Amino acid sequence: MSDILTRLAREILMVDENNASLIPEYDRILRQGLDSRLCDGDEPRDILIIGAGISGMLAGRILKDAGHRITILEANDDRVGGRVKTFHPQGGNSPFRDAAQYAEAGAMRIPDASVHPLVNTLMSVLDLDRLKQVFYNVDVARDDQTTKTYRTWLKANGLQARRCAYDDGTLPPEERSLGFPIPDSACTASHLLDLALEKPKSWVDQELPIEQQVEGWERVIQSYGGHSMGSYLREFFSDQGTTDAQAIIDYIGTLQNLTSRMALSFIQSFIETTYINDTVVYHELAGGNWQIPEALKASVAGDIVMDARVIEILWQCDKAQHRGRPGVCVRTINEPVVKRGTVRPNRIRMEREFTADLLICTIPFSALRFVRVTPAFSYWKHRAVIELHYDSATKVLLEFSERFWEWGPEEWVARLGDEYRGHRALGGGSITDSPNRFIYFPSHRVEGSSGGVVLASYTWADDANRWDSIPEDDRYGFALKGLTEIYGKGIKRFFTGAGKTESWMQNFYSFGEAAIFAPGQLTELHPHIATPEGPIHFAGEHTSLKHAWIEGAIESAIRVAIEVHGHVTLKQGEEG
Ligand code: FAD
Repeated sequence: MSDILTRLAREILMVDENNASLIPEYDRILRQGLDSRLCDGDEPRDILIIGAGISGMLAGRILKDAGHRITILEANDDRVGGRVKTFHPQGGNSPFRDAAQYAEAGAMRIPDASVHPLVNTLMSVLDLDRLKQVFYNVDVARDDQTTKTYRTWLKANGLQARRCAYDDGTLPPEERSLGFPIPDSACTASHLLDLALEKPKSWVDQELPIEQQVEGWERVIQSYGGHSMGSYLREFFSDQGTTDAQAIIDYIGTLQNLTSRMALSFIQSFIETTYINDTVVYHELAGGNWQIPEALKASVAGDIVMDARVIEILWQCDKAQHRGRPGVCVRTINEPVVKRGTVRPNRIRMEREFTADLLICTIPFSALRFVRVTPAFSYWKHRAVIELHYDSATKVLLEFSERFWEWGPEEWVARLGDEYRGHRALGGGSITDSPNRFIYFPSHRVEGSSGGVVLASYTWADDANRWDSIPEDDRYGFALKGLTEIYGKGIKRFFTGAGKTESWMQNFYSFGEAAIFAPGQLTELHPHIATPEGPIHFAGEHTSLKHAWIEGAIESAIRVAIEVHGHVTLKQGEEG
């Protein structure tokens, strides 16, 4: 067990067995490729890759540059990028009334290099730095974007307050805790969470020498690996003698976006809160983040087979022969005639077969669950595919012809004749305990457009599942209603009638937003998730410890490229 703890601790910190950071080496591979490219006389291997998301295309690019022959099989017939997806004009069709508008269905904010170095290097390597603009997680003054204003809203239990008034404690005493029956009404939810996490955070303080950080993470995993965030907080506040720990947990969950994670692994949320907080600077790409996978695609474009959903993997059997030697065989099927409710004429069912020396599987385990594997994977890999928990996430986006939220009081009153509820700010988001839960405003004005697309509802877990029960076209009315509860009914006149929504749990090729460990899964399942099964290797965000981030997908792609290339050169050495 202590070996596993050390391995996990090192993986969280991205250090090797000598506690040296792996990041410089990974960064170098992103910029220059693998060191030992195949030489004249070496026989390149045929490598199949399942999935043209960030991890599949990046692994393909690195291995192709090293001299291998790669083929990437992608289920979609019309786009690459997987969970990096933008609603943007394509082929003359615009998702919104204003053709200049776009909005993110999936990944929307990219932490800076101090937190997620590799995704920033990748953007620079792909020449995308020129499109980088700040994503304002917290609202900033309309005329001075270096000043955070905290003028967005918090609404719970029927009480509504600006975030700055809540943070400063300037609300009337009876409103200070936003209606939650908590004992110390002067404390903010973020302060209470900091208090609860103080002890484990001190064990892994980034100022400590790296050896002590490794020990600290071992201790965190050993002590709390089986805890959920909810059980951790309940234990902490009960130990403090708090009479109503549950109300505090509800308060923190609602305002610190932890409701969806309360039943899930403590460690997973702890990793995030340790590295990701309000001080982190985020970026996005002007025109949409879809440009990251699109730029990556350019380097492997000729090697991607679209419209090829893998339905079966065969290995260690007669079928799995390639060029007369043991390998893998993969069967695919094309997309269905009816896709997301749209009938696509002139499509016939088409099955194809591909063989190769090696396979890299980058699809989420929730998707792999629907792929037949013959013979079955080893016991723990099979368990991981079956059990790894995936969370739901649903977004509902609404287009407005005017950016009313940016208005100051005079403009608001002149245009709406209503009580002032704007922000006089760009970006940021409001939080409500209504079904909308998290609302985000665009960080930038789109050139030539007076309007903007608001992420009117961003939800996870049970909150998302409820939106998923509503037919897509009916979601917009509910999302608009939730917005008017905060901003007033007058804003309805600026809704263009156009909206887009994405339910990631209903997405046929994702089956969820991302892998989020249930309690205990970090130690039980994670050690088996990335390990190869014969000629089959694994990558994707779920194989990293940065679940739900592009950075995790990139880390996994570099790791698997090193692994596969090492496997090939070793085999060649043995054969020679
Ligand atoms: P994927 O992107 O899922 O790629 C897998 C590919 O495999 C897909 O193209 C899929 O179509 C294909 N596929 C699936 N099944 C099959 C099959 N049977 N045969 C062939 N192909 C198949 N990250 C951030 O950094 N910042 C964010 O703000 C952020 N927000 C997010 C918000 C949401 C709602 C979501 C869903 C994700 C978000 N992420 C964010 C996470 C990030 O998008 C992912 O971690 C990353 O894109 C995963 O890449 P991947 O290559 O591992 O998997």
